[in-house]
Amino acid sequence: MRKQIAAANWKMNLTLAQGEELMNEIVQANINMEKNQEAIFAVPFPYLITNKSITDKAKNFITAAQNCASENSGAYTGEVSCQMLQSINIKYVLIGHSERREYYNETNQVLVKKINQALQNNLKPIFCCGEPLLVRQAETQNAHIEMQLQESLFHLSTEQIKDFVIAYEPIWAIGTGLTASSAQAQNMHAHIRNVLANKYGQEIANSVSILYGGSVKAANAVEIFSQPDVDGGLVGGASLVANEFVEIIKSLKK
Ligand code: PEP
Repeated sequence: MRKQIAAANWKMNLTLAQGEELMNEIVQANINMEKNQEAIFAVPFPYLITNKSITDKAKNFITAAQNCASENSGAYTGEVSCQMLQSINIKYVLIGHSERREYYNETNQVLVKKINQALQNNLKPIFCCGEPLLVRQAETQNAHIEMQLQESLFHLSTEQIKDFVIAYEPIWAIGTGLTASSAQAQNMHAHIRNVLANKYGQEIANSVSILYGGSVKAANAVEIFSQPDVDGGLVGGASLVANEFVEIIKSLKK
């Protein structure tokens, strides 16, 4: 079975001490992680090394970066490259979060460079896609997502897309308290899988984990994650509350 993943996105929140306290509380819950399940923590860059020392001690807990540079090295003040992330043994990186697209002008083309950087440095991208409210209201969300996948992922080989991780995050549901219904999530996830199947074949499409993101919380995680094409979630707000995120991890399909 493909991987089921609960991914926390701390964004620009928490001090180092607060982050450590949160992690310790989550680890102490002693969640029984199945072989196909992972709990991923995308923390701010300065916390990666300390956070990794905590996740390394818990089965299938993994520390991730929230972003990476589109270049490999050089005169790019303030940037963090995939080579640097690899050098501290980071395994996953979020790429294309809607906040990066919106506030830092990350286009589908910039994301191609970031994805290539990640793969060249043995990092697994968690590629985020999602439509704004106007697109959803116009009912053109399927075409919008297909375009994001085509422009940022379709240069990849079958081998590279196998076991890939995609997060579908409708922008109107991020941090708003609005959640896509489980039917809306399932429909879009099935569409994404279908788009991948048309390009790479059904077997490869079936290997891709597609996470849902947008106001996931303990109270709605079981229903959303139980949908056949939903393979877990990317979680912002609720990942900052230990017992919420513990319940979200426990809601993953086995
Ligand atoms: C996110 O930041 O990816 C996210 C889904 O946030 P929230 O869970 O707060 O909506």
